[in-house]
Amino acid sequence: MNDPLIITIDGPAGTGKSTVAAELSKQLGIAKLDTGAMYRTAALVVFREGVDPTDGDAIVQACAAHELLYDLSTDPPRMLLDGKDVEPYIRNPEIGAIVSEVSVPRVVRDVMVRMQRAAAEAYPRLVTEGRDQGSVVFPDAQARFFMTADADVRVERRLKQLLAAGRPADASAIASEIAHRDHIDASREAAPLMCPDGAIRIDSTDMSIEDVVDLMLGHVRAAVRGA
Ligand code: C5P
Repeated sequence: MNDPLIITIDGPAGTGKSTVAAELSKQLGIAKLDTGAMYRTAALVVFREGVDPTDGDAIVQACAAHELLYDLSTDPPRMLLDGKDVEPYIRNPEIGAIVSEVSVPRVVRDVMVRMQRAAAEAYPRLVTEGRDQGSVVFPDAQARFFMTADADVRVERRLKQLLAAGRPADASAIASEIAHRDHIDASREAAPLMCPDGAIRIDSTDMSIEDVVDLMLGHVRAAVRGA
């Protein structure tokens, strides 16, 4: 029952990964890692300090002057920058506009991968979502998923999510941000967005969150007895 259990969920923006990951972690009683929040926090440092978002060494240096901590002890877990919760800032459009550039350099990714693997050592039972979790960071995970959905559905979901959170939202701005990020994420050299070899691909276009979670739970239980 307490054997390590890593579940990875990768996929492009707006496919519902975060909601599904949160629900899976709740149902299985295991931790959850939002790796996008880590890259977004680096982008926040870049934005606040006027660092060149394409200069990997400068980004790493700027981040090293701060404490970036993914705090798994709270529910939900939160990214802390020098002890402060950055959630109110990292979903803002100015961060969305640069986060994919910030995520390109290998030196930046190395820092984040270390943080992710350290989290998995401290919390060996966790569901982690991102772009490279099943391909690069945890290729030996017990269950690896890749979520997709049609572009218009992804925009619609992101729009609803933002409106529900009381944030300003505009469908055409969301559509272009998603397209911009997906393009950079899929075409970069280091850890590009891709369906990991052997991962289970789930097209959630016509599925509810509950359906996706149930499907994943079935796969997880088949892969790991007693999960
Ligand atoms: O998951 P989210 O949409 O918040 O991720 C924001 C951005 O962070 C992605 O578009 C991508 O550029 C980057 N990212 C990444 N690798 C991850 C998670 C996120 O490059 N594992």
